[in-house]
Amino acid sequence: MPQENRCPADGRALVPVRWTEPSAVAEVVARCRAAQPAWAALPLATRQKRITLLGRRIVERRLEAMDVLGDELGRHPTDSLMSELVIAGNYAKGAAALAGDALRDEHVRLSPIEFPGKRAVIQRVPRGVVGVIAPWNYPLLQFFKPLFPALLAGNTVVIKPSEHTPRSGIWLHGLLQEVLGPDVVGIVQGDGAVGQALVDQVDAVVFTGSVATGRKVATQAAGRLIPSSIELGGNDAAIVLADCDVDRTAAGLAFWSFHNAGQDCSSVERIYVERGVADAFVDRLVQVTAALAVHPDGDGEVPPLQNPAQLAIVEDHVADAIAKGAILRTGGQRCGEGYGYRPTVLDGCAPGMKVIEEETFGPVVAIVRVDDAAAAVEAANASVYGLNGSVWTRDLARGEALARQLEVGVAYVNNHSFTGAIPQLPWTGVKHTGTGVAGSRHAYATFTRPRTLIVDKGRQPDVFWFPANADLARLGHAVAELGLGRVSRVATLLPLLARRGAQILGLGR
Ligand code: NAD
Repeated sequence: MPQENRCPADGRALVPVRWTEPSAVAEVVARCRAAQPAWAALPLATRQKRITLLGRRIVERRLEAMDVLGDELGRHPTDSLMSELVIAGNYAKGAAALAGDALRDEHVRLSPIEFPGKRAVIQRVPRGVVGVIAPWNYPLLQFFKPLFPALLAGNTVVIKPSEHTPRSGIWLHGLLQEVLGPDVVGIVQGDGAVGQALVDQVDAVVFTGSVATGRKVATQAAGRLIPSSIELGGNDAAIVLADCDVDRTAAGLAFWSFHNAGQDCSSVERIYVERGVADAFVDRLVQVTAALAVHPDGDGEVPPLQNPAQLAIVEDHVADAIAKGAILRTGGQRCGEGYGYRPTVLDGCAPGMKVIEEETFGPVVAIVRVDDAAAAVEAANASVYGLNGSVWTRDLARGEALARQLEVGVAYVNNHSFTGAIPQLPWTGVKHTGTGVAGSRHAYATFTRPRTLIVDKGRQPDVFWFPANADLARLGHAVAELGLGRVSRVATLLPLLARRGAQILGLGR
């Protein structure tokens, strides 16, 4: 049964989208599996051109996408343009360029003494059909990132949009079919039951979503012995040092806390600030935050929450923090006709509050005042999550030394989170943030398997073949001595090697 979706900005009911029966998922995957050999057989240069073209088409047709994203996320059009559509073209181009290196045969030199006449190559072989299961917070971007490299590697793909944002998936799938032809990418729609049915059919899975679901998907994939890339939640920390540039730091952290209403896996949710600068920094952050408009007001820097369940989590976390002693400096209330919530700064936060311990995934940032940088690093790392982390300071060397101590997948000095849009850099986390890697050549471990290919050009048999005899034993000891560096001239072994060759070819004659 399709669930009801409403526009988060104004509460308007959206036209329902039909869900795929879980029993029909196998057929969608089978069609993509049938299309995969022909897609993989295309020269890489052709796939690179198609993916680059796909990126161009997405950008050319951005106005359509901005409408759909506006309906499903309640975002201002400029917000969708900047946070998903502009990125698509560059991501496609960058991923296509990277594929040449990531997929090239790797030639490995073998020892000519132990393995004479042999050529060794490591090939990258596509997995087959890759399933991509996405959350609702970036309904297009969450697909682009795995989709482009998966296709470049020669896989076909089945996408499953979130049940909260199925229309963005339909728009993307239509465009994919136009550019790539039928069945190179398939789509299934629905909730967890459909996602589960997909994991049951595909040859590899990329999952982005919550920790609870990620565990289930990882377990199911492990049971089927298929690879999975699992990218889960975050509760990112920023460390603000006493020597920071207060205005720039407040502007940067307001953006990375409230962008997309904090519905970023890598939004800054905790700020550890050194006491020396705390008053000045927090005052400036509050001033910047209070000036932000929640869409549909003004230029709508901040969208509403995407769905009522997420709004309820945000309200619960803010109430919990205040009940435990946090000071509400700005925000803390609903706004607009839909699921809008004012960007919120909570000062005086401490361990034990939900805003510190859990992922809020909303427009709320918790300030913790600390004595020094060492205390800040310790507190930042005391989280079950580890996606991004940042240090804000004028002393770049000190900032880098501290950033290297953060238990995260991506660490920054004087910035945060923006590398998710760069296809050459790995986007990855530690602890409950999951095992996944998006971006860079490291992502290809999910989309390809290594296959070793050996071509033996040698005319002679290998000296360790049958028969086993005293010469084989002599040879074994000689090779052992060679490994220990005690045989100075390999040439002394040549007569023994020649004798072994004759013995092997003469066996049984
Ligand atoms: P969710 O786990 O509820 O759903 C994600 C997707 O999984 C949806 O498409 C859903 O239908 C599907 N699903 C549900 N049960 C399933 C099952 N048993 N098997 C297969 N698929 C199933 O997550 P959400 O609420 O949509 O997304 C928000 C979460 O995503 C947040 O925790 C956020 O931090 C995380 N996230 C992480 C990253 C990252 O890169 N690490 C990026 C974006 C979002």
